[in-house]
Amino acid sequence: MVKLAQRMSQLAESATLAVAAKAARMKAEGVDVVDFGVGEPDFPTPPHVARAGISAIEAGQTRYCKPTSGTAAAKQAVCAKLARENELSYSPEQVIITEGGKMGVYLAMQAVLSPGDEVVIPAPYWVSYPEIAKLAGGNPVFVRGSETNDYKLTPDELRRALTPRTRMVVLNSPCNPSGVTYHPNETRALADVLQDRDLLVLSDEIYDRLVFDGQKALSYAASSPAAHAQTLTLNAGSKTYSMTGWRVGYVAGPREVIKAMAAIQTQSTSGAATFTQAALATALTAEQSAVEAMRVEFERRARHMWQQLTAMPGVRCPRPTGAFYCFPNVSACTNRMGLRGSVEFADRLLGEAHVATVPGAGFGLEGHVRLSFATGMSMIDEGLARMAKFIR
Ligand code: PLP
Repeated sequence: MVKLAQRMSQLAESATLAVAAKAARMKAEGVDVVDFGVGEPDFPTPPHVARAGISAIEAGQTRYCKPTSGTAAAKQAVCAKLARENELSYSPEQVIITEGGKMGVYLAMQAVLSPGDEVVIPAPYWVSYPEIAKLAGGNPVFVRGSETNDYKLTPDELRRALTPRTRMVVLNSPCNPSGVTYHPNETRALADVLQDRDLLVLSDEIYDRLVFDGQKALSYAASSPAAHAQTLTLNAGSKTYSMTGWRVGYVAGPREVIKAMAAIQTQSTSGAATFTQAALATALTAEQSAVEAMRVEFERRARHMWQQLTAMPGVRCPRPTGAFYCFPNVSACTNRMGLRGSVEFADRLLGEAHVATVPGAGFGLEGHVRLSFATGMSMIDEGLARMAKFIR
């Protein structure tokens, strides 16, 4: 047996992976699976963005990125985006371009966490936060929002989770997996709790453009000057511009933290590919009609899926106001059907009804499953009809 690093014993095998692997196997065998498991838009990268990447390759932008923290053009485009859409003022030295949003989370945690530092993570959460925190030596501290508040953290819940060891608070609005967006007043109320604390907020705003029902997601850093000084604002091309495979994202925040993140990037990956950064710069600065078209379609699907889910007996679901997920509570169904929890529910739903979902256990909230509506309307109808029959 090969001996692996000690840290590997702490890294959880993704609970979501087993169902995804089984769904992939079934599809390969020709089973007609309705896949609600996907975490990426079902739209192509907008053609003008793709062309910008291709042109950059043809123009020879295929060498090491200098500096590794990102091209001047990409950093400027990020600053312009954050000023235009998020009311945030940053200079290019306060920005790092990363290999996707995930690497932004990774670099941020590596740069600021020391062993034993606590990272407050509201549950349900995106699966990777706790694992990345642990890899950096941090201790995840989970705070579960209440169902009656659509799983959003209240100021009191946040306050109770803080200790002298808290080094970071992770916020994610709109949220994966709940699909819920904090109201600006709720964001400001959380900022009031944190304003005098010596900690950093990692505000993951990767779904900030995909909001519905006239909501606007307020950037945490825009809630006050104190919040601005303590925040790492994270985003990526992935969700907004359907660029998941391009692997390009960005983080803006205090200069010293960005510099530390860049130092790690220099000694590890050497940064994002130069031509993907050219595509990101175009995505952020050119006209935005493709984003709005995708947002409108997601809004339509969100309403439709939520209405169908909440009409199912025993299913409760927060109304999605952003991202592209519904996160129904199916615990009444699992109890009725004698199932042990969300993993068995998702497994049986896949095996018997051929519908792939992601069990809530991996997102820190049992009794739920995540359904992505990044799939066409007819697939949504077909999958939900199968699910309704399954839980009957
Ligand atoms: N943050 C959240 C909340 C996500 O849902 C995801 C992807 O699913 C990421 C970050 C990572 O995105 P990327 O593909 O840019 O690494």
